[in-house]
Amino acid sequence: MIERLNKIKSLAVAQIVEVNDFDSLNELKVRTLGRKGEITMLLRGLKDLNGQERIEAGRAANEIKDNLEKLIDAKTAELKARELEHKLKEERIDISLPGLPLPLGGKHPITMIADEIKNIFIGLGFSIAEGPEIESDYYNFEALNMPRNHPARDMQDTFYINEEMLLRTHTSPVQVRTMEKMAPQIPVKIIVPGKVYRKDDDATHSPMFNQVEGLLIDKNITFANLKGTLMLFAQRIFGEEVRVRYRPSFFPFTEPSAEMDISCVQCQGKGCRMCSHTGWLEILGAGMVNPRVLQYGGYDPEKVTGFAFGMGIERIAMLKYGINDLRLFFDNDKRFLKQF
Ligand SMILES: [Zn+2]
Repeated sequence: MIERLNKIKSLAVAQIVEVNDFDSLNELKVRTLGRKGEITMLLRGLKDLNGQERIEAGRAANEIKDNLEKLIDAKTAELKARELEHKLKEERIDISLPGLPLPLGGKHPITMIADEIKNIFIGLGFSIAEGPEIESDYYNFEALNMPRNHPARDMQDTFYINEEMLLRTHTSPVQVRTMEKMAPQIPVKIIVPGKVYRKDDDATHSPMFNQVEGLLIDKNITFANLKGTLMLFAQRIFGEEVRVRYRPSFFPFTEPSAEMDISCVQCQGKGCRMCSHTGWLEILGAGMVNPRVLQYGGYDPEKVTGFAFGMGIERIAMLKYGINDLRLFFDNDKRFLKQF
């Protein structure tokens, strides 16, 4: 019997070594060690043996069963490890595959125009100055030659925070702030982009909008310098063929003052609905810095002169892109914004 047990054992060991999958291994286990397996069947003959032989055969059978079980367990572990390795290989991330595209935002049209304007003036030697949006009455009005009760204050419907503080109605306060810092150095050559606030709300006005202000102070600055600078600006933004004209105007902080128009970008001056059939579009206000403003800023108007200008960035963007409702810029409608 022991001989036959050993035969079963060596056969089983050889098979375990060769087996390559769970199903075959399981089948082998059942066939050899199962309740109706070879060893069990063989052991049924134990009862026919005599005492000593029975004990020895029983012990040998148990040893063989233990051995085979250990081998089968080891093989199971080996197959599992092989399967895991295979799985890892299959599921390895291929970093050479192109990734999923992420939707990227773009620049807001107002930012694009502001950048364009800034770049034009930076190219002319201007630098960028900034100031607070919550401003004092002094810088927003008084130092710009608009004392309390001055009727020109009515042109700018103001959000007051208290008696002294307000939301700036224009970027012009930065003119005075910059002059105070620099006086008596020349030249002062800045542009001031930024948000401003007024109590307005319709298709062409918004309670918050963006302005760019420009200021140049030096010796012998004349209206000719102003015209040359702004002509170049208009041509850069609207094209070489654009024409400009000046109409006399009034601003408390410049003297003389003018509004600058450009020839209509839609009809080139022939007259259309966009320009109300005048052929001209108003784009900015400008003038020679009022001597009193120079004094407020710490400069001697007998020694230096300067010019200043200011424009609404939304207005420029509307004309350049042919947009007829200012509120589109602030609606956050992606269908609109995607067009730029
Ligand atoms: Zn026109």
